[in-house]
Amino acid sequence: MALALEAREAGKLPVPDNVAEAVRTLIEWAGDDPSREGLRDTPKRVARAWREYCAGYDEDPAVHLARTFEEVGGYDELVLLKDIPFQSHCEHHMAPIIGTASIAYMPKERVVGISKLARVLNGYARRLQVQERLTAEVAQCIHDYLKPSGVAVVIEASHSCMTARGVRTPGVKMTTSRLLGCFLDDPRSREEVLSLMGY
Ligand SMILES: [Zn+2]
Repeated sequence: MALALEAREAGKLPVPDNVAEAVRTLIEWAGDDPSREGLRDTPKRVARAWREYCAGYDEDPAVHLARTFEEVGGYDELVLLKDIPFQSHCEHHMAPIIGTASIAYMPKERVVGISKLARVLNGYARRLQVQERLTAEVAQCIHDYLKPSGVAVVIEASHSCMTARGVRTPGVKMTTSRLLGCFLDDPRSREEVLSLMGY
């Protein structure tokens, strides 16, 4: 028995006793018996899942913007990555936030690899968040490290703390946006980026 348990645990992230105990306490509080067979390994699984959900704490999302390309053939029109799916957790209930983000910037001399914008998004999403701050952090990071003429970030997401509990309104989505630089100052640039994003 002890051997089988050790084999199952091999190579997995160790879970401190107090963390497993906290999950057991929560299961009990929810109304179930943490010692029944189906729930016996749950505290460790939950503990490891939370390290994954919050893996963003271990990274600085700006690192993804460190490698840029300067030879863009004179391209100085906007770059847009649309409908990037992401998952986060709200800091008020630790409940899932599930949504999509559209991220655009107006390059000034340099661009980044296409997947990097999604990596910046995930670096901030994989933390305990509020949607407003997530939107602002992604925009500010791109603004600070890529130094483009403008950045636009629009996020649409549904919050499980609202759809699965509380007022229980499935299907409701919240939209947040942060516009910086030319997208904030120049109405024509703003109109162009928002219409390309589908707004
Ligand atoms: Zn919440």
